[in-house]
Amino acid sequence: MPDLVTHTALVYFGTRWWVNAPMRVLIYIGAVLPDVLSRPLYILKPQWYPYTIAIHTPVFMLGLVWLLGYFFHVTWRTKARWLLLAGVSAHFLLDALQRHLDNGYYWLFPFGWQTFSEGLFWPETATYWTPIWIGLVLICELLLWLKKKGGIK
Ligand SMILES: [Zn+2]
Repeated sequence: MPDLVTHTALVYFGTRWWVNAPMRVLIYIGAVLPDVLSRPLYILKPQWYPYTIAIHTPVFMLGLVWLLGYFFHVTWRTKARWLLLAGVSAHFLLDALQRHLDNGYYWLFPFGWQTFSEGLFWPETATYWTPIWIGLVLICELLLWLKKKGGIK
C-alpha cells in the first residue's frame, strides 16, 4: 500500500495537463478510495481484517463506484463513475507493483483467492518518496501559475 500522497501524485502527473480540475477531483478521490475505506477499518478493528480485504478489491470498488454515481446528476452520472473508476484503477495499478510480506491483495475476490504482484518496491519505499512527490507537485503548480500570470513564456 503506497501512501495516499503517492497514489494522488501518480494521477496528478497522469492527468494534470489534459483533464480539467472538477474531473481531476473525482480521479483523485478514486485514487485514494480503496485505502481510505479499508485501512481505518483495519486499524480500528483489526479483527475485521477479512472484511477489509474484501473492501480493497476491484469487485467491491466497482459496486461502490456504481452506487456513488447516484450522488451525481443524471447528466454527470456516467462520467463521474468513469472518472472515479479511473482513479481506482490507478490505485490498484500502483498497489499491484509492490511487494508483500503476506499474500498481498486478492484481485479476483470473490471469484478466486489468487494473488499476484510485480514486487518492484516495498510499501514503505513509497513513503520515503512522499516529500519528493509533494515538492514536484508544488513546483509544477508554481510553474503553471507563473505561466498563467505571464511570468514564463
Ligand atoms: Zn491500496
